[in-house]
Amino acid sequence: MSTASCCRPAEDELLLPVRMLNEFTYCPRLAYLEWVQGEFADSADTVEGRWQHRRVDQPRSTRIGKEETEDEETEHIHTTSVDLSAPREGLVAKMDLVEIENGSVTPVDYKRGKRPHIAQGAWEPERVQLCAQGLILQENGYQCNEGVLYFAKSRERVRVPFDEDLVSRTRQLADQMRVVMNAASVPEPLEDSPKCPRCSLVGICLPDEVNFLQNGEENHVIRPLAPPRDDALPLYVQKPGARLKKAGDTIEVYCDDERIAVVRWLETSQIVLFGPVQASTQIMQEACHRNIPVVYLSTGGWFYGIVESMPHKNVVLRQQQYAWASDPKRRLKLARRFVQGKISNCRTMLRRNLGEAAPAVLDDLKQYTQQAARARGLPELLGIEGNAAHRYFTCFGGMLKNGDGFPFDFTGRNRRPPRDPVNALLSFGYSMLVREWTVALMATGFDPFMGFYHQAGHGRPALALDLMEEFRPLIADSTVLTVINHGEIRRGDFIARMGSVSLTPDARTRFLAAFERRMNQEITHPVFGYSISYRRVLAVQARLLARYLCGEIPEYPFFVTR
Ligand code: SF4
Repeated sequence: MSTASCCRPAEDELLLPVRMLNEFTYCPRLAYLEWVQGEFADSADTVEGRWQHRRVDQPRSTRIGKEETEDEETEHIHTTSVDLSAPREGLVAKMDLVEIENGSVTPVDYKRGKRPHIAQGAWEPERVQLCAQGLILQENGYQCNEGVLYFAKSRERVRVPFDEDLVSRTRQLADQMRVVMNAASVPEPLEDSPKCPRCSLVGICLPDEVNFLQNGEENHVIRPLAPPRDDALPLYVQKPGARLKKAGDTIEVYCDDERIAVVRWLETSQIVLFGPVQASTQIMQEACHRNIPVVYLSTGGWFYGIVESMPHKNVVLRQQQYAWASDPKRRLKLARRFVQGKISNCRTMLRRNLGEAAPAVLDDLKQYTQQAARARGLPELLGIEGNAAHRYFTCFGGMLKNGDGFPFDFTGRNRRPPRDPVNALLSFGYSMLVREWTVALMATGFDPFMGFYHQAGHGRPALALDLMEEFRPLIADSTVLTVINHGEIRRGDFIARMGSVSLTPDARTRFLAAFERRMNQEITHPVFGYSISYRRVLAVQARLLARYLCGEIPEYPFFVTR
């Protein structure tokens, strides 16, 4: 095999990791999302892949033995987890295993699953990755003419000769990858590809959704490629004095030396601590390691902050976010969408719960939605939103079923502090929602403090406040109606102090349970038509906003239910 390359990388160019070359061969967008935008998501495949790799991920050298042949002594050496680079080829690799036999070197790459029964013995991404390892070994002076793919499930070794065709294809893909990775925009998603259902980034990439929103084709079927809901849930701890300790794969919660809860890390999406609750250093380190945010709230639910491992690597998205936020025209365009979504959803709430009882207010809210779409500036938009909110909350009390034992009065919205039980519930629901949005936005790579409708500053997560507008009626208000109308929370569940009303700790627990039920409730997505939980809807909306800001889709599709 030849070692000459037709297109040498520039000296200061980053070396391409051969694992990324594998991803690029599978799908250029996948490599871009992972390498340029720093996206990562575990799937069953990646988790199993790590498990299969566990033995070869530890650097180790083993002399296997010596054989006497007629002419010479033959020596076998196995070396695992070998880091090697090749600046002329522009490649770098961490090789699972390198077998050395009499000066001839064979890279061995471990794959989960069974050997595919295809003519070339393995799929192209795996063969290209292995060949790239061979090129690296060659540049480092080793004799290397073939590699081996080891399929863990079927325990089979497949030899891959580094022939001229494979070498030139590998170099061609590496050259293409350099061009694509240096481009300012992410490659287009694949169309109707059978690769997408097996892709670990499908829930981040949203291939069918982006294609649909780009082309706007009627009757286009969007495959439900990501699971409709997440298995992992937030862990809420609000017992004053509680302590969280790490115990292997679980989090243990103690109060007065008594263990009151045990939760598996795998089933935890966030750790939410209310008031004086302690988390050990081991908990914080493990949470950072697993990318699980730890959220600190006051006892009453006021948002103090979040501890996260590292800021998301998607710098390009934040640059776009700041560019949009500093352009008054583009800010207004987005702000109009948030307010339109909010007023439409408030109208739907009243239509569903008050029905014929509120034709005049439904007409008014429809008009406010139309006015919001035409607002000429943020002050005008604020005025429209204020008027719509006033109309909505004037009728909100009519949706409460004031049965025996739990009569609630509600005459309008008040806050800071809330002065009646319904307002206390609404305020608590909104703080839970802003927390959910802050977490979802940070996970996408946004700066949650730079908004478009809400002003940045005063420590407010302005972007989270923007995005939650559409979801206030759907999640927070709806939870409030549920807990009151089902009698889950009653008049005796509040504490009034100096004009301020708040929930008792027990009532907060019941409210959080109802809030979680709502977040996990599956609905039919109004645009994409598949089943999805509200929690996943938040993640998808955040991704769609990112796609819009980066110019991939022509409009931000605000979320409205029918
Ligand atoms: S979901 Fe499909 S289009 Fe998106 S990165 Fe994966 S393979 Fe590529």
